[in-house]
Amino acid sequence: DSSPSAGQAEGHQPTVIICIGMAGSGKTTFMQRINSHIHTLKKPGYVVNLDPAVGQLPFGANIDIRDTVNYKEVMKQYNLGPNGGILTALNLFTTKFDQVLNLIDKRAPTLDYVLLDTPGQIEIFTWSASGAIITDTLAATYPTVVAYIIDTPRSTSPATFMSNMLYACSILYKTKLPFVLVFNKTDVVSHEFAVEWMTDFEAFQAALEEDTSYMGGLVSSMCLVLEEFYKGIRVAGVSAVTGAGMDELFTAFDEARKEYETEY
Ligand code: GDP
Ligand code: MG
Repeated sequence: DSSPSAGQAEGHQPTVIICIGMAGSGKTTFMQRINSHIHTLKKPGYVVNLDPAVGQLPFGANIDIRDTVNYKEVMKQYNLGPNGGILTALNLFTTKFDQVLNLIDKRAPTLDYVLLDTPGQIEIFTWSASGAIITDTLAATYPTVVAYIIDTPRSTSPATFMSNMLYACSILYKTKLPFVLVFNKTDVVSHEFAVEWMTDFEAFQAALEEDTSYMGGLVSSMCLVLEEFYKGIRVAGVSAVTGAGMDELFTAFDEARKEYETEY
């Protein structure tokens, strides 16, 4: 075995990382960044693109949904709009997911990471049967981690921050998988404010009180829910563009994998 880190231990298994996040949060750019990072670490990875509508991929995908389904043809054939086309394309692809698993299984002993990019619009993956089937199927076989990508510059208001956290929280409880909150675009805005809000309840309350546009009472009760959520997750700040924060990120992935191994 020429690979230094993989394939040696009995039953070696790669870590599966599923990238989820709002449209424009930087999932695809982030995938490219972690793919090139593991390349420089000489750790072999396997890349799966699940976004049928991506124009150009900045990385070479080992498996690409676009090779199987053309979402524009699906739109025409089923008389759907873009989101319906993308969702139906994902559904059609998922009916063949056993083939995808077979391909991953064959390579698994020599891989350290399997990376999955998901469609731009978050709900297409998180609120569809296909997204659940893909997630559950992978998690039943491999240590699987969710990387929830956040657009940090667009989350600096307490209200948007909280909406994004509540969405992340709902995905955590839906998937029940180890979770890494990835604050992306730290080259534009540092994620320090977010870490402060997540660790200092009063600091977040104070920020909220300044935001008179929001329903204070509801938000205060939501804060209690989020406090519980924050206890169970890991945080990393990165820039997918500059590559800052990769060491902290991969430490978080390692810890998330350990959580999978002890809890699942
Ligand atoms: P996706 O829809 O979640 O896949 O997001 P993309 O990866 O397509 O990125 C959306 C936009 O955000 C693009 O214009 C990217 O160049 C930009 N972007 C992604 N990551 C970063 C980052 O770390 N820093 C900055 N400044 N821009 C980023
Ligand atoms: Mg994308």
